[in-house]
Amino acid sequence: MPADAALAGRVALVTGSTRGIGWATAQRLAAAGATIVLNGRTESEALQARLAALASHGGGHAALAFDVGDAAAVSAAYRKIATDFGRLDVLVNNAGILGDALLGMVLPELIDATIATNLRGAILNLQAAGRLMLRRRAGSIVNLSSIVGRFGNPGQAVYSASKAALIGLTLSAAKELGPSGIRVNAVAPGLIDTDMIRHLQPDTRARLERGIALGRAGTAEDVADVIVFLASDAARYVSGQVIGVDGGMSL
Ligand code: NDP
Repeated sequence: MPADAALAGRVALVTGSTRGIGWATAQRLAAAGATIVLNGRTESEALQARLAALASHGGGHAALAFDVGDAAAVSAAYRKIATDFGRLDVLVNNAGILGDALLGMVLPELIDATIATNLRGAILNLQAAGRLMLRRRAGSIVNLSSIVGRFGNPGQAVYSASKAALIGLTLSAAKELGPSGIRVNAVAPGLIDTDMIRHLQPDTRARLERGIALGRAGTAEDVADVIVFLASDAARYVSGQVIGVDGGMSL
């Protein structure tokens, strides 16, 4: 790690970092010098393999398996972070699930599962991270909203509602925690090439890509680079913002 690495000495928790945007973000944060706490829903070989892979960025990283929507599990995880690291500088509230359904087909189970992970999970983690960050009166929290949380999408009313709620969470938390030196921002990705969009039929994907000014779906790294900026001191005067990372899809 170079001595002037932007996040040297910082500890960063990335929820949902077994794959996709979360894993790309964990790698980028580690490359910038941060010590990473990885997270996945359950203890798995994939999570341990990711932890082993981070060793190329130096030692000291950790992996904590917990469901972000489980309040007791979240409390236990942050107690462990406090004990093992004594600090938390960055939270990336990334864990999320997507279940498509036209309004007439939405089942209560879909609402509950989506809200439990995407919203309750984000609030619980923000709350616990905020407490740890208050000790040092510094920190950066980045919430993963979505282009559909700003502009909606047919068949995604439930998911869109959860992602729109994260914008409200970001704005209120930024106001509440700003006086304590903690910044809270959101990114709103567009169509990003991860497992989450693998279910799209090729013609649907092609149609969506035609609506992107830059002419292609984004990569997980495209999003991760913006998150690393928001996490770093380069964004020291940026709080309460929702940054579109969508290649111009929202234009
Ligand atoms: P993926 O489906 O590729 O990965 C989701 C990650 O979240 C996995 O690591 C998964 O862990 C984890 N996860 C899911 N539920 C839980 C839970 N209850 N507790 C802990 N971890 C959980 O998603 P993406 O990388 O594509 O998406 C990341 C974020 O970006 C999400 O919030 C998503 O809504 C948002 N986003 C994505 C877009 C896209 O086009 N891909 C566009 C806009 C926003 P595990 O492996 O254990 O299941």
